[in-house]
Amino acid sequence: MKKLLEEILDKCRIYTKNGKVANYIPELEKADPEKLGICVVTDDGGVYCAGDSEIRFSVQSVVKPVILLQALLDSGEVEVRKLVGVESTGKPFDAFNYSDQALKREHINPMINAGAIALCTLIKGNTYEEKFSRLLNLVRKLAGNPQMGVDESVYMSEKTTGNKNRALAYMLKAYRLIDGNVEDVVDCYFKACSIKADCVDLAKIALVFANKGILPDGESAFDKKYAGYINAVLMTCGMYDGSGEFALNVGVPAKSGVGGGIMAIVPKRMGIGIYSPALDGKGNSCAGIKTLEMLSKELELSIF
Ligand code: GLN
Repeated sequence: MKKLLEEILDKCRIYTKNGKVANYIPELEKADPEKLGICVVTDDGGVYCAGDSEIRFSVQSVVKPVILLQALLDSGEVEVRKLVGVESTGKPFDAFNYSDQALKREHINPMINAGAIALCTLIKGNTYEEKFSRLLNLVRKLAGNPQMGVDESVYMSEKTTGNKNRALAYMLKAYRLIDGNVEDVVDCYFKACSIKADCVDLAKIALVFANKGILPDGESAFDKKYAGYINAVLMTCGMYDGSGEFALNVGVPAKSGVGGGIMAIVPKRMGIGIYSPALDGKGNSCAGIKTLEMLSKELELSIF
Protein backbone atom coordinates (compact mmCIF):
# COMPACT_ATOMS: atom_id res chain seq x y z
CA MET A 1 0.00 0.00 0.00
CA LYS A 2 2.75 2.48 0.94
CA LYS A 3 4.47 1.88 -2.42
CA LEU A 4 1.21 2.43 -4.28
CA LEU A 5 0.62 5.69 -2.40
CA GLU A 6 4.11 6.91 -3.23
CA GLU A 7 3.65 6.09 -6.92
CA ILE A 8 0.34 7.92 -7.02
CA LEU A 9 1.77 10.98 -5.28
CA ASP A 10 4.64 11.05 -7.78
CA LYS A 11 2.11 11.18 -10.61
CA CYS A 12 -0.11 13.76 -8.92
CA ARG A 13 2.46 16.26 -7.63
CA ILE A 14 2.30 18.07 -10.97
CA TYR A 15 -1.34 19.00 -10.30
CA THR A 16 -0.33 21.21 -7.36
CA LYS A 17 0.63 23.69 -10.10
CA ASN A 18 -3.01 23.96 -11.21
CA GLY A 19 -4.15 25.62 -8.01
CA LYS A 20 -3.53 28.46 -5.60
CA VAL A 21 -3.37 28.52 -1.81
CA ALA A 22 -6.33 30.17 -0.08
CA ASN A 23 -5.85 33.87 0.50
CA TYR A 24 -9.17 34.94 2.04
CA ILE A 25 -7.34 35.08 5.35
CA PRO A 26 -3.67 36.14 5.48
CA GLU A 27 -2.54 33.20 7.59
CA LEU A 28 -3.49 30.55 4.99
CA GLU A 29 -1.49 32.28 2.27
CA LYS A 30 1.70 31.20 4.06
CA ALA A 31 1.21 27.53 3.06
CA ASP A 32 3.62 25.95 0.56
CA PRO A 33 1.55 25.17 -2.58
CA GLU A 34 3.83 22.29 -3.60
CA LYS A 35 3.10 20.10 -0.60
CA LEU A 36 1.18 16.86 -1.05
CA GLY A 37 0.65 14.18 1.58
CA ILE A 38 -1.66 11.25 2.21
CA CYS A 39 -2.53 8.78 4.94
CA VAL A 40 -4.71 5.70 4.56
CA VAL A 41 -5.97 3.91 7.67
CA THR A 42 -7.54 0.53 6.95
CA ASP A 43 -10.22 -1.35 8.78
CA ASP A 44 -7.70 -3.97 9.96
CA GLY A 45 -5.58 -1.33 11.72
CA GLY A 46 -3.02 -0.59 8.98
CA VAL A 47 -1.68 2.99 8.82
CA TYR A 48 0.04 3.89 5.53
CA CYS A 49 1.47 7.35 4.91
CA ALA A 50 3.31 8.98 2.01
CA GLY A 51 4.58 12.43 1.06
CA ASP A 52 4.00 15.42 3.33
CA SER A 53 1.66 13.55 5.63
CA GLU A 54 3.18 14.96 8.81
CA ILE A 55 2.49 18.62 8.11
CA ARG A 56 -0.12 20.06 10.46
CA PHE A 57 -2.67 22.41 8.93
CA SER A 58 -6.00 23.95 9.87
CA VAL A 59 -8.91 21.63 9.12
CA GLN A 60 -11.22 24.44 7.96
CA SER A 61 -14.38 22.93 6.47
CA VAL A 62 -13.26 19.36 7.12
CA VAL A 63 -14.64 19.98 10.62
CA LYS A 64 -18.18 20.44 9.27
CA PRO A 65 -19.21 16.75 9.45
CA VAL A 66 -18.09 16.74 13.10
CA ILE A 67 -20.12 19.90 13.80
CA LEU A 68 -23.09 18.10 12.23
CA LEU A 69 -22.40 15.02 14.36
CA GLN A 70 -22.17 17.04 17.58
CA ALA A 71 -25.43 18.84 16.72
CA LEU A 72 -27.14 15.48 16.01
CA LEU A 73 -25.82 13.97 19.25
CA ASP A 74 -26.83 17.00 21.32
CA SER A 75 -30.11 18.05 19.75
CA GLY A 76 -31.28 15.13 17.57
CA GLU A 77 -32.29 14.85 13.94
CA VAL A 78 -35.60 16.70 14.27
CA GLU A 79 -33.94 19.88 15.57
CA VAL A 80 -31.14 19.62 13.01
CA ARG A 81 -33.68 19.33 10.18
CA LYS A 82 -35.52 22.40 11.50
CA LEU A 83 -32.37 24.43 10.93
CA VAL A 84 -30.67 23.04 7.81
CA GLY A 85 -31.72 21.06 4.76
CA VAL A 86 -29.84 18.29 2.96
CA GLU A 87 -29.92 19.46 -0.64
CA SER A 88 -26.77 20.42 -2.43
CA THR A 89 -26.81 24.14 -3.27
CA GLY A 90 -24.73 23.98 -6.44
CA LYS A 91 -23.21 27.25 -5.26
CA PRO A 92 -19.91 28.21 -3.65
CA PHE A 93 -19.46 27.32 0.03
CA ASP A 94 -19.78 30.93 1.16
CA ALA A 95 -22.52 32.05 -1.25
CA PHE A 96 -25.14 34.59 -0.18
CA ASN A 97 -27.66 34.43 -2.96
CA TYR A 98 -29.86 31.59 -1.78
CA SER A 99 -32.93 33.37 -2.99
CA ASP A 100 -34.03 36.88 -3.75
CA GLN A 101 -36.67 36.88 -1.06
CA ALA A 102 -35.72 35.00 2.06
CA LEU A 103 -33.18 32.66 3.55
CA LYS A 104 -34.87 29.39 4.46
CA ARG A 105 -33.50 26.24 6.01
CA GLU A 106 -34.02 24.31 2.79
CA HIS A 107 -31.60 26.68 1.08
CA ILE A 108 -28.69 25.57 3.21
CA ASN A 109 -27.00 22.29 4.08
CA PRO A 110 -24.54 21.37 6.87
CA MET A 111 -21.51 21.40 4.56
CA ILE A 112 -21.64 25.06 3.49
CA ASN A 113 -20.63 27.88 5.79
CA ALA A 114 -24.15 29.13 6.60
CA GLY A 115 -25.28 25.61 7.55
CA ALA A 116 -22.27 24.87 9.73
CA ILE A 117 -22.55 28.25 11.48
CA ALA A 118 -26.24 27.57 12.16
CA LEU A 119 -25.47 24.11 13.57
CA CYS A 120 -23.02 25.56 16.12
CA THR A 121 -26.13 26.85 17.92
CA LEU A 122 -27.38 23.26 18.40
CA ILE A 123 -24.28 22.14 20.28
CA LYS A 124 -24.98 21.86 24.02
CA GLY A 125 -23.14 24.11 26.46
CA ASN A 126 -23.89 27.11 28.64
CA THR A 127 -21.45 29.29 26.73
CA TYR A 128 -19.96 29.14 23.26
CA GLU A 129 -16.63 28.31 24.86
CA GLU A 130 -18.21 25.29 26.43
CA LYS A 131 -19.88 24.31 23.14
CA PHE A 132 -16.55 24.61 21.32
CA SER A 133 -14.70 22.63 23.93
CA ARG A 134 -17.25 19.78 23.59
CA LEU A 135 -16.76 19.87 19.82
CA LEU A 136 -12.97 19.79 20.16
CA ASN A 137 -13.25 16.81 22.51
CA LEU A 138 -15.35 14.96 19.94
CA VAL A 139 -12.77 15.69 17.23
CA ARG A 140 -10.02 14.38 19.53
CA LYS A 141 -12.01 11.26 20.37
CA LEU A 142 -12.71 10.42 16.70
CA ALA A 143 -9.07 11.00 15.75
CA GLY A 144 -7.80 9.18 18.85
CA ASN A 145 -5.52 12.16 19.40
CA PRO A 146 -5.94 14.06 22.69
CA GLN A 147 -3.24 16.54 21.63
CA MET A 148 -5.34 18.22 18.95
CA GLY A 149 -5.95 21.93 19.48
CA VAL A 150 -6.49 25.27 17.81
CA ASP A 151 -3.95 27.06 15.61
CA GLU A 152 -4.12 30.42 17.40
CA SER A 153 -2.76 32.50 14.53
CA VAL A 154 -5.23 31.01 12.02
CA TYR A 155 -8.02 31.58 14.54
CA MET A 156 -7.03 35.24 15.05
CA SER A 157 -6.75 35.69 11.30
CA GLU A 158 -10.25 34.21 10.79
CA LYS A 159 -11.67 36.34 13.58
CA THR A 160 -10.23 39.62 12.35
CA THR A 161 -10.97 39.13 8.66
CA GLY A 162 -13.93 36.72 8.55
CA ASN A 163 -16.52 39.35 7.78
CA LYS A 164 -18.28 37.36 5.11
CA ASN A 165 -18.97 34.60 7.62
CA ARG A 166 -20.16 37.23 10.08
CA ALA A 167 -22.50 38.59 7.42
CA LEU A 168 -23.83 35.08 6.73
CA ALA A 169 -24.47 34.64 10.45
CA TYR A 170 -26.35 37.95 10.63
CA MET A 171 -28.44 36.79 7.64
CA LEU A 172 -29.27 33.62 9.57
CA LYS A 173 -30.33 35.76 12.49
CA ALA A 174 -32.30 38.19 10.32
CA TYR A 175 -34.32 35.25 8.97
CA ARG A 176 -34.74 33.83 12.50
CA LEU A 177 -32.83 30.64 11.82
CA ILE A 178 -30.56 31.36 14.75
CA ASP A 179 -30.77 33.53 17.81
CA GLY A 180 -28.35 34.63 20.50
CA ASN A 181 -25.15 36.62 20.13
CA VAL A 182 -23.93 36.34 16.54
CA GLU A 183 -20.33 37.15 17.50
CA ASP A 184 -20.29 34.22 19.91
CA VAL A 185 -21.72 31.86 17.30
CA VAL A 186 -19.15 32.80 14.65
CA ASP A 187 -16.38 32.65 17.22
CA CYS A 188 -17.22 28.98 17.79
CA TYR A 189 -17.19 28.41 14.00
CA PHE A 190 -13.86 30.25 13.55
CA LYS A 191 -12.26 28.18 16.30
CA ALA A 192 -13.64 24.97 14.80
CA CYS A 193 -12.13 25.84 11.39
CA SER A 194 -8.79 26.56 13.07
CA ILE A 195 -8.35 23.13 14.67
CA LYS A 196 -4.98 21.76 13.59
CA ALA A 197 -4.63 18.26 12.17
CA ASP A 198 -2.40 16.16 9.96
CA CYS A 199 -3.30 13.51 7.36
CA VAL A 200 -3.28 10.75 10.00
CA ASP A 201 -5.85 12.59 12.15
CA LEU A 202 -8.15 13.08 9.15
CA ALA A 203 -7.78 9.44 8.05
CA LYS A 204 -8.63 8.20 11.54
CA ILE A 205 -11.72 10.41 11.81
CA ALA A 206 -12.79 9.19 8.35
CA LEU A 207 -12.38 5.56 9.44
CA VAL A 208 -14.84 6.07 12.32
CA PHE A 209 -17.43 7.37 9.84
CA ALA A 210 -16.56 4.45 7.51
CA ASN A 211 -17.21 2.05 10.39
CA LYS A 212 -20.53 3.69 11.31
CA GLY A 213 -19.36 5.17 14.59
CA ILE A 214 -17.22 2.31 15.88
CA LEU A 215 -13.82 3.40 17.22
CA PRO A 216 -10.72 1.22 16.64
CA ASP A 217 -11.03 -0.22 20.18
CA GLY A 218 -14.57 -1.44 19.42
CA GLU A 219 -16.34 1.25 21.46
CA SER A 220 -19.27 2.95 19.74
CA ALA A 221 -18.79 6.74 19.55
CA PHE A 222 -22.22 7.39 18.03
CA ASP A 223 -25.31 5.66 16.67
CA LYS A 224 -24.88 4.20 13.20
CA LYS A 225 -27.96 6.08 11.95
CA TYR A 226 -25.93 9.30 12.32
CA ALA A 227 -23.09 7.85 10.26
CA GLY A 228 -25.65 7.09 7.55
CA TYR A 229 -27.00 10.66 7.74
CA ILE A 230 -23.58 12.31 7.62
CA ASN A 231 -22.11 10.08 4.90
CA ALA A 232 -25.16 10.71 2.71
CA VAL A 233 -24.89 14.48 3.10
CA LEU A 234 -21.14 14.30 2.43
CA MET A 235 -21.76 12.33 -0.75
CA THR A 236 -23.97 15.05 -2.24
CA CYS A 237 -22.60 18.22 -0.59
CA GLY A 238 -19.13 17.51 0.85
CA MET A 239 -17.13 18.89 -2.08
CA TYR A 240 -19.49 21.88 -2.51
CA ASP A 241 -20.29 22.64 -6.15
CA GLY A 242 -17.74 20.01 -7.15
CA SER A 243 -19.63 17.17 -5.43
CA GLY A 244 -21.18 15.68 -8.59
CA GLU A 245 -17.86 15.48 -10.42
CA PHE A 246 -16.24 13.97 -7.32
CA ALA A 247 -19.04 11.38 -7.03
CA LEU A 248 -18.41 10.35 -10.63
CA ASN A 249 -14.63 10.22 -10.46
CA VAL A 250 -13.96 9.09 -6.89
CA GLY A 251 -17.32 7.84 -5.65
CA VAL A 252 -17.03 8.05 -1.87
CA PRO A 253 -18.29 10.52 0.78
CA ALA A 254 -15.65 13.20 1.42
CA LYS A 255 -15.09 16.64 2.87
CA SER A 256 -12.64 19.27 1.72
CA GLY A 257 -11.34 22.40 3.46
CA VAL A 258 -9.62 25.54 2.21
CA GLY A 259 -6.59 24.66 4.35
CA GLY A 260 -5.90 21.97 1.72
CA GLY A 261 -7.25 18.98 3.62
CA ILE A 262 -9.61 16.31 2.30
CA MET A 263 -11.10 13.56 4.41
CA ALA A 264 -12.50 10.65 2.39
CA ILE A 265 -14.63 7.86 3.80
CA VAL A 266 -14.60 4.44 2.17
CA PRO A 267 -17.48 2.60 3.89
CA LYS A 268 -16.36 -0.50 5.83
CA ARG A 269 -12.88 -0.34 4.30
CA MET A 270 -10.76 2.72 5.07
CA GLY A 271 -10.36 6.34 6.04
CA ILE A 272 -8.19 8.63 3.91
CA GLY A 273 -6.59 11.95 4.89
CA ILE A 274 -5.01 14.22 2.27
CA TYR A 275 -3.10 17.47 2.46
CA SER A 276 -2.26 19.68 -0.48
CA PRO A 277 -3.03 23.37 -0.11
CA ALA A 278 -3.14 24.47 -3.77
CA LEU A 279 -6.89 24.81 -4.41
CA ASP A 280 -9.11 24.90 -7.47
CA GLY A 281 -11.68 27.67 -7.99
CA LYS A 282 -14.20 25.83 -5.81
CA GLY A 283 -11.91 25.67 -2.80
CA ASN A 284 -11.01 21.98 -3.21
CA SER A 285 -7.42 20.69 -3.25
CA CYS A 286 -6.34 20.17 -6.90
CA ALA A 287 -3.71 17.48 -6.37
CA GLY A 288 -5.76 16.03 -3.51
CA ILE A 289 -8.69 15.30 -5.83
CA LYS A 290 -6.39 13.82 -8.50
CA THR A 291 -4.76 11.60 -5.87
CA LEU A 292 -8.15 10.33 -4.73
CA GLU A 293 -9.24 9.72 -8.32
CA MET A 294 -6.19 7.55 -8.98
CA LEU A 295 -6.43 5.72 -5.68
CA SER A 296 -10.12 5.06 -6.24
CA LYS A 297 -9.42 3.52 -9.66
CA GLU A 298 -6.49 1.43 -8.38
CA LEU A 299 -8.34 0.03 -5.37
CA GLU A 300 -11.90 0.16 -6.74
CA LEU A 301 -13.09 2.40 -3.95
CA SER A 302 -16.19 3.87 -5.60
CA ILE A 303 -19.39 2.79 -3.90
CA PHE A 304 -21.24 2.95 -7.22
N1 GLN B 1 -12.91 28.96 7.37
C1 GLN B 1 -13.38 28.81 6.03
C2 GLN B 1 -14.44 29.85 5.75
O1 GLN B 1 -15.17 30.05 6.64
C3 GLN B 1 -13.91 27.44 5.82
C4 GLN B 1 -14.41 27.26 4.41
C5 GLN B 1 -13.81 26.09 3.72
O2 GLN B 1 -12.90 25.42 4.20
N2 GLN B 1 -14.26 25.87 2.52
O3 GLN B 1 -14.55 30.43 4.69
